[in-house]
Amino acid sequence: MLASSIRFAVRAMSRSPKIAADQVCSGGAADDVSRCEWGSSDPLYIKYHDEEWGTATHDDRVHFEFLVLESAQAGLSWITVLRKRENYRKAFADFDAARVSEFTDAHVEELLKNPGIIRNRAKIKAAISNAKIFLAIQQEFGSFDKYLYGFVPGGKPVVFSGSGAIPPRTELSDTIAADLKNRGFKFFGSTICYAHLQAVGVVNDHLPSCFRRTGRKMCP
Ligand SMILES: [Zn+2]
Repeated sequence: MLASSIRFAVRAMSRSPKIAADQVCSGGAADDVSRCEWGSSDPLYIKYHDEEWGTATHDDRVHFEFLVLESAQAGLSWITVLRKRENYRKAFADFDAARVSEFTDAHVEELLKNPGIIRNRAKIKAAISNAKIFLAIQQEFGSFDKYLYGFVPGGKPVVFSGSGAIPPRTELSDTIAADLKNRGFKFFGSTICYAHLQAVGVVNDHLPSCFRRTGRKMCP
């Protein structure tokens, strides 16, 4: 732990005995905490940045949730999809890949009438066909998570070096996206794949100045 972090933790703990060393508090206002710039622009982004983005998950349901959302994002902004997330949760069977894989043409027509989601036939059909491939990968590797981490050197999250701009894609995302494309995945090119790796914490792209870089959380 850096000396500055220790000082910070001591200062944080002196405010309240209930605050843990891995928490960040700002006297109730979240705005004076240093975070990635994109994660400060909108209340929904702040919550997403502080609580989810870059947090390593090994839960296949979470993987599938982000796969659905990210493939729906193609060509749009992430905030657009994030605002529709709960509509997606309802429309796509609580992101249960097995149930989504069984969606029929009638489901597709129904979803096309749902104003709460992005009504794009190709994207909706891709979510269903991707769900089938997701299940096949689970069968082959035991879990989608194991499949994904099989590409990562050492099987551990990759931490952004902190020099230069955060890339929109990397060799790792190129390789995974190409493999998924070979398996039939749609709407999941390298850039979208990299966004997935960031979201589920396979890569940790929090800036060195961001409080989430080391996994600290906002205190409740
Ligand atoms: Zn950050």
